Amino acid sequence: MSAEKTEILAQRTSRLGWVRQAAFGAVLLCLPALAVVTAFGIAPNTATADHAANLVAEAIRVPEPAPLAEPAESYTSHDRVLRGDTVAVLLDRLGVRDPQAIEFLKADATGRTLFRQLVPGRTLQAETASDGSLKTLRYFLAATSLLEVTRGADGFSARMRAIGEAPRLLYRSAVIRSSLFAAADAAGIPDAIAMQVARVFATDIDFHSDLRRGDRFSVVYEMIYDSGELVAPGRIVAAEFVNDGRTYHAVLFRDEHGQDGYYSLDGTNRAKAFLRSPVEFSRVSSGFGARFHPIFKNWRAHTGVDFAAPHGTRVLASADGVVVAAGPRGGYGNAVEVRHGGGITTLYAHLSGFAKGIRAGTRVMQGAPVGFVGATGFATGPHLHYEFKIAGVHQDPLKVALPKAEPVPAHLKAQFTQVASSARATIDRVSATPPARFE
Ligand SMILES: [Zn+2]
Repeated sequence: MSAEKTEILAQRTSRLGWVRQAAFGAVLLCLPALAVVTAFGIAPNTATADHAANLVAEAIRVPEPAPLAEPAESYTSHDRVLRGDTVAVLLDRLGVRDPQAIEFLKADATGRTLFRQLVPGRTLQAETASDGSLKTLRYFLAATSLLEVTRGADGFSARMRAIGEAPRLLYRSAVIRSSLFAAADAAGIPDAIAMQVARVFATDIDFHSDLRRGDRFSVVYEMIYDSGELVAPGRIVAAEFVNDGRTYHAVLFRDEHGQDGYYSLDGTNRAKAFLRSPVEFSRVSSGFGARFHPIFKNWRAHTGVDFAAPHGTRVLASADGVVVAAGPRGGYGNAVEVRHGGGITTLYAHLSGFAKGIRAGTRVMQGAPVGFVGATGFATGPHLHYEFKIAGVHQDPLKVALPKAEPVPAHLKAQFTQVASSARATIDRVSATPPARFE
């Protein structure tokens, strides 16, 4: 995979935070339940668990008889950074017994990256000799790059390099019994992919209120590997979602400008110019039924829609635009107003705070955080008050007809049809395999 492509992946993944909305009243009633679901018992990257690559240590016998002075074996082990880990503790877990290597990591400008960027959840891989001396150490910094420390004839050297392998495709199918994330867990689908499922289908399905027991989805997605190590989930390549008896499809397709987008099988763009709910979707709000069903206050009396969500939930720009105001605003409390094309402005009020860099003049992308749910101004509890105006006139964002994004252009239609029909065939094959039923 080219460096350029991996970069696109990273950008796309970083924009996948996501929409959450829940009823104000329901949230109050559900605080104990929230406390339970927010206790993240599950590792953020569950995908490793279902892959054979998740071996703690594997011995590789060197076929050639080595000189006696040299260690005859090398061991590869891998582990994840845990909260509270130090470099010394990590290397110890990886079976590295090499004071020289640790001295090098401390002294070398590139090697010190390991100390500076020890982020929980990231993966390390170490190749050691049988005496514990280090041969190679790889620290996977992101889906695109890694730190590699190698022992050569003249001692250790460290470099940063791009991840060079093409992503592998995984196929999974899941049935929803209690929530999107529970279904994803049961099927071995990583959180990041479940979030993408929610995002890709969000224009047709409101994941806070529309999910039904028995809904199912199938997904084909990338997993990024390097040196045999799972680095991160990539993009969804194709997916099908059956919600309340209706079937929706999404196919990844790159347009002539190199822009990746998701399309229905007929070539309609799945993206919409505006998000339906400008509140992040997460494990906490994943469910179905009345638990998190939004309660909307009277529209006319109120000029906006209230999305109840826990304090601190990220509030997202509902479309690309430019911030025209960000600050305290009377009864609105802390508010952000964004101007979009077509004379449309959106307002986000009662925020507990603003996202980094949000001030008048800041350009924002759809789905980028502008602030956090709070109860500033005239608010009885934490919620987002959201207004949508066209030419200064308030509109109901839940009812107003929103412009659709561009479909596949005519001259790429033949190419798209091919991609779509092969995606369809794959999805049909995945759906036919019995889905996970243990939730
Ligand atoms: Zn309101």
